[in-house]
Amino acid sequence: QTVNLGAGPSALPTDVLLEAAQGILDFGGTGMGLIELSHRSGTFKKVIEKAESDLRSLLDIPDDYCVLFQQGGGTEQFSATALNLLAYHAIANPDYVSKHKGSTPPCDYVVTGSWTAKAIKEAKRLGINARLAVDARQHNDGKFGVIPPVSQWTLSDAKADKSAMLYYCDNETVDGVEFPSPGFPIQDLPEEYRKNVPIVADCSSNILSRPIDVRAHSIIFFGAQKNVGPSGVTIVIARRSLFDVDPDQGVPNGGPRIPCTLAYKNAIDNGSLYNTPPMFSIYTSGLVFADLLNNKGGVNGATQRAKAKSEAVYKVIDESDGIFKPTVKQASARSRMNVTFRICQAGQDQPDSSLEDEFVKRCSAKGIEQVKGHRSVGGIRTSLYNAVSVEQTQLLVSVMQEFAQQIRQ
Ligand code: PLP
Repeated sequence: QTVNLGAGPSALPTDVLLEAAQGILDFGGTGMGLIELSHRSGTFKKVIEKAESDLRSLLDIPDDYCVLFQQGGGTEQFSATALNLLAYHAIANPDYVSKHKGSTPPCDYVVTGSWTAKAIKEAKRLGINARLAVDARQHNDGKFGVIPPVSQWTLSDAKADKSAMLYYCDNETVDGVEFPSPGFPIQDLPEEYRKNVPIVADCSSNILSRPIDVRAHSIIFFGAQKNVGPSGVTIVIARRSLFDVDPDQGVPNGGPRIPCTLAYKNAIDNGSLYNTPPMFSIYTSGLVFADLLNNKGGVNGATQRAKAKSEAVYKVIDESDGIFKPTVKQASARSRMNVTFRICQAGQDQPDSSLEDEFVKRCSAKGIEQVKGHRSVGGIRTSLYNAVSVEQTQLLVSVMQEFAQQIRQ
């Protein structure tokens, strides 16, 4: 069986895929496939409700948080997060714009990799007052690969500026940078800021691989196609009380207008069925949740496996005498999900792309696929998402050890 180490869409548990395949043909003896049913049928309602309740159990999501199944990918959440929170801000602070000489509230961004760089770019494109709290590249010779401590960030003033949100990405999929466990250092933010500024997390590539403090966030979102299910659905966990903004009424006080599919209120009021949802992706994600919950020890089980798998691969890297060169400089910021590295000839400092091509081929010969780095950064990326087993990771480890040994000789 192929070991799929792709970064996304990526491997899913085989048992889940078998069940999903059956469900496409004939769902629960209805004689119709799941994706042929009406999304408003009682049958599908049960599917989406079960997916939500299993996710709530897995992540310990409190009742005052909603779980929304959205389309548009992680990319659409770049704008949806800011627009929904700016609308809330405008309602909660009606005289903000007049008091601030016509300027709208800032949104603060912690840029630690390519996906947060894209999120702030999109916010700026929309004319949002997006502020850089930190750009990790400025602390590492122009490259991602470190997470500067909070003391080196420039946050908006919680009282005077009243930022509409602080945005970060827990695991940067392209660059292999992850906030060290247990996660984003919310406790290091100034108290006033922590209490007043809504915190938004993009957890697209590490959700369900360790616990997350939902209450410390206003929005947590993740596209399904890594640890959750097929691409097509993006799950948003959001503090319900902040999103009672009716897009049909427009938003007063200088707040933004929100496209109807992006307004969280529409999804909240309609149980994520405002328009036709990505049914197959929701269904299969639900099967993954049930499998993790019932058969694989829940998030704690996933946490232990993620630790064991990533430590095994980083050990080979660290013991390779510089042949495998991690692209993430700060060891504590190395991702447990996306292990990124370059390959060098013995005694050389510069990566050798022909060796990297050879490594990709060697992996392929052993049944390991999709290990090429993202096209924007090159090198090698082995993604160790939840569906990749400890045994499969051992196969990768042995291929790496053999490859390094051959280069040394
Ligand atoms: N955020 C992260 C961390 C990602 O890894 C990705 C995609 O890989 C995205 C956002 C964008 O997701 P999508 O392609 O679903 O829009």
